Amino acid sequence: MSEFVFEPKRIEEHWQSEWEREGLYHAREDATKPKKYVLEMFPYPSGDIHMGHVRNYTIGDVIARQASMAGFEVLHPIGWDAFGLPAENAAIKSDSHPAKWTYANIEKQAASFKRMGFSYDWDRTVRSCDVDYYRWGQWIFLKFWERGLVERKSSAVNWCPSCATVLANEQVVGDSQCWRCKSTVEKRELEQWYYKITEYAQELLDDLDDLPGWPDRVKTMQANWIGRSEGAEVDFVLCDAAAEPSEESITVFTTRPDTLFGCSFFLLAPEHPLVAKLTAGTEYAEAVSAVVASAARETAVERQLGERVKNGAFTGRYVVNPVNGEKVPIWVSDYVLMDYGTGAVMAVPSGDTRDFEFARRYDLPIPPVVVAESDPLLAELAGVSERVMADVPWEVAFAGAGVMVQSGEFTGMRGGKGSEGMHAVSAWLAERGQGRESINFRLRDWLISRQRYWGNPIPAIHCPTCGLVPVPIEQLPVVLPMDIDITKGETLADHPEFYETTCPKCGGAAKRETDTMDTFTCSSWYYLRYTDANNAELPFSADNANYWMPADQYIGGIEHAILHLLYSRFFTKVLRDMGMMKASEPFTNLLTQGMVKLDGTTMSKSKGNVVAPEDMIARYGCDTLRAYILFMAPPDKDLEWSFDGLDGMYRFLARVGRFVADAADEAAAGNGAVASGDAAAKKLHRELHRVISKVTDDVARFQFNTAISAVMELTNSAYDYRREVPAGSRDLALQRDVAEALTLLLAPFVPHLTEELWRVVLGGQASVHLEPWPAFDASAMDSDEMELVVQVNGKVRGKVTVATDLAEEDIIAVALTAVASYVEGKDVKKVVVVAGKLVSVVVAG
Ligand SMILES: [Zn+2]
Ligand SMILES: [Zn+2]
Repeated sequence: MSEFVFEPKRIEEHWQSEWEREGLYHAREDATKPKKYVLEMFPYPSGDIHMGHVRNYTIGDVIARQASMAGFEVLHPIGWDAFGLPAENAAIKSDSHPAKWTYANIEKQAASFKRMGFSYDWDRTVRSCDVDYYRWGQWIFLKFWERGLVERKSSAVNWCPSCATVLANEQVVGDSQCWRCKSTVEKRELEQWYYKITEYAQELLDDLDDLPGWPDRVKTMQANWIGRSEGAEVDFVLCDAAAEPSEESITVFTTRPDTLFGCSFFLLAPEHPLVAKLTAGTEYAEAVSAVVASAARETAVERQLGERVKNGAFTGRYVVNPVNGEKVPIWVSDYVLMDYGTGAVMAVPSGDTRDFEFARRYDLPIPPVVVAESDPLLAELAGVSERVMADVPWEVAFAGAGVMVQSGEFTGMRGGKGSEGMHAVSAWLAERGQGRESINFRLRDWLISRQRYWGNPIPAIHCPTCGLVPVPIEQLPVVLPMDIDITKGETLADHPEFYETTCPKCGGAAKRETDTMDTFTCSSWYYLRYTDANNAELPFSADNANYWMPADQYIGGIEHAILHLLYSRFFTKVLRDMGMMKASEPFTNLLTQGMVKLDGTTMSKSKGNVVAPEDMIARYGCDTLRAYILFMAPPDKDLEWSFDGLDGMYRFLARVGRFVADAADEAAAGNGAVASGDAAAKKLHRELHRVISKVTDDVARFQFNTAISAVMELTNSAYDYRREVPAGSRDLALQRDVAEALTLLLAPFVPHLTEELWRVVLGGQASVHLEPWPAFDASAMDSDEMELVVQVNGKVRGKVTVATDLAEEDIIAVALTAVASYVEGKDVKKVVVVAGKLVSVVVAG
């Protein structure tokens, strides 16, 4: 009998090449089988893989492998999100080309992923910088354009001076910072391309309810970002100091039309186009310009900080309040932002904290209009419809629900969000054509153009005669030229061979668009390309998308909660509306994995605290690393890296290997009992089924750490059995069942060792990864014994093990013996047996 020797390097390399030869991980569109699409967010090809990659992709691999054993046809693909700025920066640094850097890194990462034994279908690999992929991103752009979802417009946009490009709102994070380089973002007025994601705002919000498999945190973040609020649009007519109305009006959105009688001033954002027009050449121009200039020096976030002093200036002009005909002064203030609402605000200082502070600072009236029932002011003003009080006796604004006062015919109604008064005022305005009920979203259209080279060219042409002209679909792809010198900072705008073209409409000389698309457009549909990665006619076929979509399990970082996950949902809905597929949502279940940390900080190259997986793979093999990183913490929790347990995991796997080999050898030699049925065998049999049940349940809930613990327990029980029962008396069939179960249960976690054990040691004909997931027998878990806790006067004093069918009086007798020292010489008043749990003894004296 030869001892099993665990040789990770040999078996891992051997089985990896076998799997490739056998095509083990090719996904097929097999309509007779249920499918499971397991997807990990595709990586940016940054170079060497790190522990975060190892963790993320191992989680996906375990889910995919287990699903396959559970009988699903599994799609488990990989690709690269390969356009973007880091490649340009790296190319500049190394005097190279972004393509060269990108493809070299992809090759390196692919080799690492193969070395980790991930079960990817490599025939479906997507690299977003391949023309065979990005041409379909252009195709989608043109189809979106046909559907009215593409717009080019001028607006105040976010500009990152360091990245030298504009950014989408979703890419401005924290305190007005660029999501990528953390530079402070500036505002610039520029003409840019947009995807009209706002057209889908309501559906993107509503359908969050259809995603019970997503973390609540992510859904809340998306709902807040979409930011739906109900209220009314109100039209304010401009007037002069004599309240003589003009032809012009300004529309505002308010969530509190019920407070309209309390509007005592009107605000414009400093960037509002009317500001200069209203004040030009007047005595107010200078003060207003000063506010505009100081606001431009601050970020949007700074301007909105609650504690900040709010600056403003009167414009000398007025609007008419539609409900009472009063003239209301127009001010400019820096706490109003142009890109929220219409850039104009009806200020109601009694009901809004910032308006309240502004009114106090500039001595503007604060008439109360909605008063809390508990406020003594209500007794004074209840039923008063005319304005008798121009200033509240309050220290702060009151934004809650209450009773309307000083509000004309609406006086006495309930005021507040969603109140009777709110609807009544909106209806009154609508009847007179001066307003309407309205829904406002915080979400803005997605700015998709970037002034960078390494991206997907936008397929549009600027013709001096015809204006904006889409590149005809049959002329796709617009190929990104490779002969660009990035080290000189060149972009497509420096490349006449690229941009000089003829107009497809009139045939005249025209200019190609030189902006490229946000890389998030590439990542918004790559999971659809995986379903049909080699389609040369379309981005993907409806048949394949309908077979695989939606992806059943998505795994990736929480940092994409709004950006990528919102954009992908938008793309899915538009492509569905185009008839490209049936799914309305791209990802049924979402797992956001925790970070891998070292000494409490996230591992990163810039912090220099990276632990290289390669060293550990070289020393222990990838099976040990895979099992260890999953054993350290549940997938959604942060993980503090430590080398301490790696050796132990390696020894555990070797120990499993030795047991399986010994069990197989003994069974083959036939030296033992056919079916012993003794107590030790019964115990191991029970443990076998308990652990299969536990691992099955844990894997379904992604509790991989406790699943591995359970397999360790079964391994210990197997060794206990061999210690307790001498060779020659062991139940050989049972030992072999346990050996097979250990191999199958560990197969998703440690695919190579288990393959070696299955095919070589246990003599399996085909791959362990094609075997069915082990079943358990619930009745086998039932013990014919039970453990009972014995309490005396409420305190635990002992434990007894008795036969499950023992009569109650016998149980009591056994229990009293076990706690004899606590009851001796005392009067036993009462004994209660709680079946399967405890025996409670009450004594006196
Ligand atoms: Zn930046
Ligand atoms: Zn033309």
